[in-house]
Order: sequence, then C-alpha cells, then structure tokens
Amino acid sequence: MVKPWNEWMFIIFPEADWDPAIHGGEPTHDEYMQRVRDFIGDDKIPAKIVNISKWAVNEVVAERYSSDTGNIHCLGDAVHRHPPFNGLGSNTCIQDAYNLAWKVAYTLRGTANPRILTSYSIERQPVGLGVITRANQGFRDHLAVWQALGITEPDLESATKAFEELSAITPAGAKRRRAFRKAIEGTEKEFHAVGQEMNQKYDGSPAVCFKDEKDPRPPLPEDAVLNYQISTYPGSRLPHAWLNARVPGKQISTQDLVGKGRFTLLTGPGDGEGRWKAAAEKVGKELGIEVKSVSIGWRCDWEDVYFDWERKREVEEDGCVLIRPDRFVAWRSIGMVEEPEERLRRAMRGVLCLDA
Ligand SMILES: Cc1cc2nc3c(=O)[nH]c(=O)nc-3n(C[C@H](O)[C@H](O)[C@H](O)COP(=O)(O)OP(=O)(O)OC[C@H]3O[C@@H](n4cnc5c(N)ncnc54)[C@H](O)[C@@H]3O)c2cc1C
Repeated sequence: MVKPWNEWMFIIFPEADWDPAIHGGEPTHDEYMQRVRDFIGDDKIPAKIVNISKWAVNEVVAERYSSDTGNIHCLGDAVHRHPPFNGLGSNTCIQDAYNLAWKVAYTLRGTANPRILTSYSIERQPVGLGVITRANQGFRDHLAVWQALGITEPDLESATKAFEELSAITPAGAKRRRAFRKAIEGTEKEFHAVGQEMNQKYDGSPAVCFKDEKDPRPPLPEDAVLNYQISTYPGSRLPHAWLNARVPGKQISTQDLVGKGRFTLLTGPGDGEGRWKAAAEKVGKELGIEVKSVSIGWRCDWEDVYFDWERKREVEEDGCVLIRPDRFVAWRSIGMVEEPEERLRRAMRGVLCLDA
C-alpha cells in the first residue's frame, strides 16, 4: 500500500527461468494490467498503472568494504543487496556513510591516523551480512503467507478458490485459516526485529577502546533478532534515554546530546563530573578536537527524570561514557579513577589510532 486505500504496489515475480530474450520480450502494459486485474479478482474496479520498474532480488554482501590500499571505501547497495523485507536497505546505507564520514574527516584534518579507516569494513561488513541474511529469510517467511492466501496459485480460478476457502466453515477452511495464522506468526522476525536493527556491536574494531573492560561483552540475548541488548559496552550504540531540564521543558534524548561531528563524554554528578569534564577539555585541546562533556543526573546539565539513563548506563554516577561522532560507545570508565585525564587520553589516542 503506497497511499491508503487507493494506491498500491504490486510485486510480480516471473518464473525462475523466464528470460525476455527467449520468451517474447518484456511484458506489455496490457499484460501487466491483466495481472493486476487477476489479483483484484474482477474487472469492475477501476485501475490504472502509474509506473512500472524492475529490480532483482539479491543475497550478496562484499567480503570487505575497503581496498587493501586503504583509499577506496564502498558503501550502500554497492556492497550489500537484498530484498526489502525488514525495511533495512536505505538506513543500512546511511549508517555506512555515517560510520565512514567522520573517520575520513578526522583523517583529512590530521586529527586521526589513517589506520582508523580500516575500522570501517571491520565494523560495517558484519552488519551488511546480517541484514542481507535476515532480509532474504524474511522473503522466504512470506511465502507461507502468500500460499495461505492463494496468491501463488497458477491461475485466477484456483487462486479464487483458495481465497474463498479461507471463509469456508469446513475442515479445509479451518486448516487454511490455521496455516494463515501460522504464516503471519512466522513473519514476526520481520515486524518485531528490534534486535536485528539495534544489536550492532563493533567488536574487534581499532576505533573502539576495550582496554578498561574487565570482562568480555556479555552474550547477546537468546533471540538476537527480536531482542535488543541495551548496553554501554564499548562498540555498542549509545542507549536512548529521555532526559529533561531542572525546570521541566521539552524532553531530550541522550541521542540528541551527542553526534554532530564531535566526541561527547557523558558523566554524572559530584566530584566525578568536575574531574571528567576538566579531563575532556584538556585532552580535546591537546588532540585538536572538540570533546563535548555533558553531565546527567541530580542537579546536572540534564536531569534523569525517569532514571532511564541510570538503568541503562552500566557505569557508576562518577564514571563516564565516551561517545564517538557516529553515536557509538568508544570507551567507558565504570567509576572515577586516580588519573582521569591520563585514562581519557589513552582511550582517545587509541580510538583515533594515534599510537598505531
Ligand atoms: C522495491 C524496493 C523497496 C524498498 N524498500 C525499502 C524500505 O522499506 N526501507 C529501506 O530502508 N530500504 C528499502 N529499499 C532499499 C533502498 O531503496 C536501497 O537500499 C537504497 O536506495 C540504496 O541506496 P544507495 O545510495 O546505496 O544506492 P542507489 O540508491 O542505488 O544509488 C546509486 C546511484 O548511483 C547511480 N550510478 C550508478 N552507476 C553510476 C555511474 N557509473 N556513474 C554515476 N552514477 C551512477 C545510480 O543511478 C543511483 O542514482 C527498497 C528497495 C526496493 C527495490
């Protein structure tokens, strides 16, 4: 459905061995129209074709997104192609660009070592692989829905019969309704795939600092397609939490405090706030980059009005979480340390690959 309820998209799959060169050329406008009419089921409903376009279903991902020479980087459909199930095409392409752009900018400005660019393929290729695999499985899962509705029947007569059977109060009708319900349930990994969308974890990346982690990343939830592991473990997406000002106004998401081409250090109230903020300013100046620092919590820059950040941040209130310009966690300190400046400097230099 493009515009409810009178503009629709029909997707017609040709037979697997259909070839216009052998089978009499491309279908005509009238032949397409006939298929639309067959689908509607009668000739009475007025229908007009607005546009026809062809595309191919792919299940391909490049093994690496960057050349060995390190100066060619590919993104978007050029490196991952799949059918539209799960709706992750454009946004995966945009995420690739968002991941690469700040690294290129920092490299060109001389504030990061060019080695940071090797992190692009390491971080994004597994995401592309996951998306093409899920989208194609989503495609296969839909086949059962089309079969239950009679869409895959070879002609109008048998398709109509199969569709009418859905309404029949007979054992065959009950069987088809059961098959329909099961088929719809089988598409849940397309429509409730928050884990698939959000569980991007950049393990093994040189642009993430894991040095201060005592334990390896906890395993993903059992069904990682449906369930999102909210975490500030380095290499994770920054968790979203709603915040507000002390005198309540428009609420703001943690997502909107970060990004915009700069690193951000999130910390909490008290002595920790003062020392981490001072460290961010000093280290940022030294490295020639902007490190914005924001405190969240009691009497801080932003109030954690629903204690949402406290539940998700996984660090103490005198700890901190360093966020990359693409809103991924670069590094974190669980609590205050003796030498906050030294720790932050080491993490930032690591993430920018300056000691490589
Ligand atoms: C039917 C369908 C439904 C979809 N639904 C969704 C959805 O619900 N959600 C979603 O997120 N995504 C969806 N997608 C996927 C999404 O459209 C693509 O993933 C996305 O558009 C790819 O963006 P891109 O910039 O990487 O490539 P493209 O959009 O293909 O852009 C590449 C551009 O490069 C140009 N080009 C190619 N060769 C050259 C050349 N030699 N010189 C100069 N220019 C060149 C092309 O003309 C094109 O403009 C859908 C795709 C299809 C086909």
